[in-house]
Amino acid sequence: MAENYDLIVLGSGPGGYVAAIRAAQLGLKVAIVERENLGGICLNWGCIPTKALLRSAEIYHYMQHAGDYGLAAEKISADIAAVVKRSRGVAKQLNQGVTHLMKKNKIAVHMGDGKMTGQASDKTRKLSVTKDGKTEELTAKNIILATGARARDLPGTPADGKRVWTYRHAMTPPEMPTKLLVIGSGAIGIEFASFYNDMGADVTVVEMMDRIVPVEDADVSAFLEKALKKQGMTIMTGAGVSDVKVTDKGVSAKLKDKAGKESVAEFSHVIVAIGIVPNTADIGLKELGVAMDDRGFLKTDDMCRTNVEGLWAIGDITAPPWLAHKASHEGVIAAEAIAGKHPHAMDARNIPGCTYCHPQIASVGLTEAKAKEAGYEVKVGMFPFIGNGKAIALGEAEGFTKTVFDAKTGELLGAHMIGAEVTEMIQGYTIGKTLETTEAELMHTVFPHPTISESMHESVLAAYGRALHI
Ligand SMILES: Cc1cc2nc3c(=O)[nH]c(=O)nc-3n(C[C@H](O)[C@H](O)[C@H](O)COP(=O)(O)OP(=O)(O)OC[C@H]3O[C@@H](n4cnc5c(N)ncnc54)[C@H](O)[C@@H]3O)c2cc1C
Repeated sequence: MAENYDLIVLGSGPGGYVAAIRAAQLGLKVAIVERENLGGICLNWGCIPTKALLRSAEIYHYMQHAGDYGLAAEKISADIAAVVKRSRGVAKQLNQGVTHLMKKNKIAVHMGDGKMTGQASDKTRKLSVTKDGKTEELTAKNIILATGARARDLPGTPADGKRVWTYRHAMTPPEMPTKLLVIGSGAIGIEFASFYNDMGADVTVVEMMDRIVPVEDADVSAFLEKALKKQGMTIMTGAGVSDVKVTDKGVSAKLKDKAGKESVAEFSHVIVAIGIVPNTADIGLKELGVAMDDRGFLKTDDMCRTNVEGLWAIGDITAPPWLAHKASHEGVIAAEAIAGKHPHAMDARNIPGCTYCHPQIASVGLTEAKAKEAGYEVKVGMFPFIGNGKAIALGEAEGFTKTVFDAKTGELLGAHMIGAEVTEMIQGYTIGKTLETTEAELMHTVFPHPTISESMHESVLAAYGRALHI
């Protein structure tokens, strides 16, 4: 007989496992179904292991620049295998942490491939879980789909794990690349470009759009491009890659620059970071008539309901931004709505985004261009880290903070930061945005000295012609 639950969560990434915990806290009998690793992409193949890799690269960078701080570090070297081993260890620790959280919250874990069965009109939702040829049937009043996404392959040249890599291969490289081509300059592409550049590879980034990190504010893109070029990276924007071919020595690719000039270049390895594809095949969606957008991402309402009764969807299989904290927040909203609570809908304008390249990037809300496009008359403040005492003391004076306000009401519309530790600081502005803050509260806030966060205050002051240290 099928085992019955109040809620089944399909997929145990930061969306799914958080939804399961919140539902269990609210007294529901919950099962979670996972075919690979508890914790999903984020803990095992995404956010966390990349940050572990980037931390090694950061320390390596500081060791190479020890002289700048009056120190000496001799015979410095990097062992890519040991760096990767540390990263895998960190991922494993977090995966075990999720196992513990499932036990603690009495959530039944079913390992295997999950697929929905039954009819859209059923009052009880059905799901089969298959592992090693054996299938078990589960039922529940509600199912949350949280199956996430995977890397998009380059048309005509699928990743082979040897020379052509997706993020999974780039995270566990068979060897250190010498000459690396990174296709795509979104967060994932730029983080790997930054990691391998700091580790000593010769890195070229090719971006189709007219600037790198194209979702960020244009000033941030321009600053990052300059900083990465200064570090030795080659950056091609408004550019294209075609004819990627694996050769005896590596990979050859045809590059087309902004002016339309074509050339063939040789690389040791290629990382393809051109976006993601939702994991929506073979889970019974078509049979149930679940609505999707043109790109195959599931359509949901502001409580994460799909068009099928009792079927909910969260995280990377739904609309962007495709970020772990967005997935987790949706998990909480869906679990609370299922439990009969009345959670606040998420405001996508208040979801921060962070990229852990060197220098780091962090932002929340509208860019200056998007704010203008939306019809706002804006007031914009910029404050460079060179005017910040702590940044100079740390030897991290490269960066800035930019804030965008509605000139009429003073509402904070967006904040954009680049430089050291900005991924830790953006939350200050995110809280401000959730509280619908204006320039008045931000100006009235006392920022501790000396911190780089003072640049946040100064940027607000600068928007109103009152900056103190420039
Ligand atoms: C290299 C990289 C770096 C990233 N860095 C960051 C970052 O710094 N910050 C950030 O916010 N985001 C980051 N992300 C994005 C983040 O990882 C995702 O947004 C997040 O993992 C999405 O969570 P999710 O719960 O929707 O799905 P996922 O984490 O993808 O989890 C889905 C789970 O469902 C399972 N599954 C799928 N189909 C089935 C099935 N049929 N049966 C059973 N199980 C199934 C999968 O095995 C997987 O474990 C990064 C991503 C990558 C690839």
